[in-house]
Amino acid sequence: MLPFGSIRIGRILGINVEINYTWFVIFLLVTVALTLTFQEKPYQLSPLASLVDGVITSLLFFVSVLLHELCHSFVARLNGIPIKKITLFIFGGVAQMSREPDNPGVEFKMAIAGPLASFLLALVFGLIFWLFQILGLNRVIVVPFIFLAEINLALGLFNMAPGFPLDGGRVLRAALWYWYHDLERATRIAAGFGQGVAGLLVLIGFLSVIMGNLGGVWFILLGWFLNQAAQASYKQLVLQRSLSGIKVEEIMTREVQTVEPSLTIDQVVNEHFLRYKFGRFPVVENGRLLGVITLHDVKEIPRESWSITTVWETMDPLEEHLKISPGEDAVQALMQMAREEVGHLLVVEDDSLVGLVTRTDIIKLIKVKTELGV
Ligand SMILES: [Zn+2]
Repeated sequence: MLPFGSIRIGRILGINVEINYTWFVIFLLVTVALTLTFQEKPYQLSPLASLVDGVITSLLFFVSVLLHELCHSFVARLNGIPIKKITLFIFGGVAQMSREPDNPGVEFKMAIAGPLASFLLALVFGLIFWLFQILGLNRVIVVPFIFLAEINLALGLFNMAPGFPLDGGRVLRAALWYWYHDLERATRIAAGFGQGVAGLLVLIGFLSVIMGNLGGVWFILLGWFLNQAAQASYKQLVLQRSLSGIKVEEIMTREVQTVEPSLTIDQVVNEHFLRYKFGRFPVVENGRLLGVITLHDVKEIPRESWSITTVWETMDPLEEHLKISPGEDAVQALMQMAREEVGHLLVVEDDSLVGLVTRTDIIKLIKVKTELGV
């Protein structure tokens, strides 16, 4: 979903935490903005103190975002929904759920946990600020805490905006879902609110820019991103619905072009690669799937050895992520292909190859089903 790559920074409570490269942009921007602010009235810190405070405040702000996401993840896990990873990126944080919640109650608890964490953090930072002021500590130590209290309060409030997929939008969806007993309808309405909130952000952004405040560009980008996210989450739900109950074995192709392990590379090139123009063939002997041979494997072998090298010597073992079992859901197959960036999966049952499922097959099926309205 996120553009550019990410780097893993560690594992907390069994959840991988990674930073998307876009995060560094926002980290730099926030640090610079804070450093400049700290030099002005009423803070008037020295340039060096401002920079140190800027970096510390930025870091603690991102720790706050991480804690917000960890709270979502923790509640999700308590309710039996494992979280794969948390990614920090330019617009904050996102916790990747392995599946959607089963009922409105779980959705509500998971959604509200993040903003509650932010409000609690605002309170804690506010109390620290208050205590430090009473103790009469140096401004350099005190200033970051009032900012952290304000930033966390703003974070909690913004996330409670009732537009799906923001947390407030998820709370709204949970309520609608509870009311209508219909997840699709609830998602459609909540995603509509999401697009409304997105439109409002873009409008505020434009007005700010017109009035000379360049910070408005940020709101425009954020609104654009939220609009995309709202549309995508509704589409994904519709997709899941239209494929629900369909198993891989119902849509797979049963006639698969396979090769025997005893063939030479010469034979496999002439009789298979050139003839069918596929990039990869499963290697099968007596119904048993032994591995796969790809164009890439063939290119590794010097031309003059093609007649004396067999498929068996050249092939790769079949990797787990390229196979799927016939009883698996079609949605799972589609998600696996998207995740692994492949166009097809081999359908395997007890070590034997029973078929092939392609992305094109599934997409055609969705098209037909949508056109027929079934
Ligand atoms: Zn959240």
